[in-house]
Amino acid sequence: MTDSASSPSAPHAFAQQLRDALGTDIVATSAAEIAPWLTDWRGIYHGDAQAVVRPRTVEQVAHCLRLCSAAGVPVVPRGGNTGLCGGATPEKRNDAHPLGVVLCLDRMNAVRQVDTTSNVLIAEAGCILADLQQAAENANRLLPLSLAAEGSCQLGGNLSTNAGGVNVVRYGMTRELVLGIEAVLPSGEIFEGLRTLRKDNTGYDLKQLLIGAEGTLGIITAASLRLFPRNGVRTVVLAAVDSPQQALELYALVFEQCGQRVQAFEYFTQECVELVLRHVDGLRLPFADAHPGYVLLELADTVDEAALNALVETVIGAALEAALCSDAVVSTTLAQLESMWRLREEISEAQKMDGPHLKHDISVPIEALPAFMESARERVAAALPGARLFVFGHFGDGNLHYNVSRPAGTPADFFARDAQAEHAVTDAVLDEVARCHGSISAEHGIGQLKRHHFQQFKSPLERRLMADIKRVFDPAGIMNPGKLL
Ligand SMILES: Cc1cc2nc3c(=O)[nH]c(=O)nc-3n(C[C@H](O)[C@H](O)[C@H](O)COP(=O)(O)OP(=O)(O)OC[C@H]3O[C@@H](n4cnc5c(N)ncnc54)[C@H](O)[C@@H]3O)c2cc1C
Repeated sequence: MTDSASSPSAPHAFAQQLRDALGTDIVATSAAEIAPWLTDWRGIYHGDAQAVVRPRTVEQVAHCLRLCSAAGVPVVPRGGNTGLCGGATPEKRNDAHPLGVVLCLDRMNAVRQVDTTSNVLIAEAGCILADLQQAAENANRLLPLSLAAEGSCQLGGNLSTNAGGVNVVRYGMTRELVLGIEAVLPSGEIFEGLRTLRKDNTGYDLKQLLIGAEGTLGIITAASLRLFPRNGVRTVVLAAVDSPQQALELYALVFEQCGQRVQAFEYFTQECVELVLRHVDGLRLPFADAHPGYVLLELADTVDEAALNALVETVIGAALEAALCSDAVVSTTLAQLESMWRLREEISEAQKMDGPHLKHDISVPIEALPAFMESARERVAAALPGARLFVFGHFGDGNLHYNVSRPAGTPADFFARDAQAEHAVTDAVLDEVARCHGSISAEHGIGQLKRHHFQQFKSPLERRLMADIKRVFDPAGIMNPGKLL
């Protein structure tokens, strides 16, 4: 049990026990060593911990969890810390639990196998996503999971948040890419589910419970992932649209004519472009005039560049003729393709530089997107006159980052000072999501940020079943308390 009487500089008794069991290079206990692990990516959440554990092996993870279970000490799993809901940040010191430990997977970063016959990659949870993409590419295969945080986020975090990203429209969310999982349960038992089978109908699919569980059921230590043929040929089109309805009709045309070649169908507004151009050097909008919105369409194929180019020409020609977009630019070089993508991918960073925004990562059925955007805009304007909208996201999946910023001229901490305004805006957005039968968290998860809304919008039956599952995996309740449930 923790030693609350310890002086700030002396390790807690339990932290010392962990250190004795696992070694000083695995367990850090001094305030200076622990400090960098206590804040989330956006700097919104700050917590406390008595130790940071950075194991190198599954056995060390198991040993740590056995000790934590026996002592009732909370464990907060941590990957690359790019999560946007405070899931990897420990709670503040409180009376409900002893002070917890942060368990970082960053040293478990081996690619165990790349098999180009069964098209499977097996890797440990601490691997950085971009490194795994590279490992797949080195074997002439594609790992299609891709998001703007891929240079920092880790496989364990991707699985635990069931990350989405820009290629979901073609390949699905993370859970659709996973064939097997190795995990350590809070009891210290190792769940050896690292299978590579495409077909395995032998009852409940337990690995799927761990995916998207945000570290509340156990620690994911490795996974086997599906690989795909590499898309040697890629083209990006930036299309200017006058309205979300136009974007929706463009999507229908593109999907019908290009089918599986649609790799990404992203949307962002002119306000997002202005924000990016204000904060990020070296980018420009490749149109003479500004337009209300933009679609970034990526098409990709394994071979036949000429056929892909011809297809793009036909589809964009048809779209312009049918007035499904007002202008369009097709990338002709890799540099152009990349800078078009940066206009979309730098939006989150530009928002961070602009100061706190109210972020709503929502989804609605794709056909409801235009109506949702219209009614949510009206509701937000009524809730907070002058509020600025920054709307962008994975339109082809029905997923928008519906972000709201303070009125122009107000201080950066406007929402922190005016909780009423914050609640009014968020309630307006989420009510519209519910009215459109959508989800209050499309891809970022619940973490600490959306627990309240999870209670509000998830049905009582679903919440009860989830609480029952939590009790089966984690009867002592040590896994990531204060998150999700
Ligand atoms: C610029 C930017 C762009 C982003 N774009 C997208 C996007 O397009 N799509 C998207 O889905 N997300 C996006 N995100 C959010 C984030 O990158 C993802 O949620 C990512 O999957 C988190 O991975 P991570 O390793 O950083 O996890 P962390 O932030 O470290 O942790 C996230 C959650 O997983 C748990 N966890 C971490 N590792 C493990 C483990 N091994 N076992 C059990 N639990 C674990 C943590 O406790 C926490 O609850 C973006 C973030 C940023 C900063």
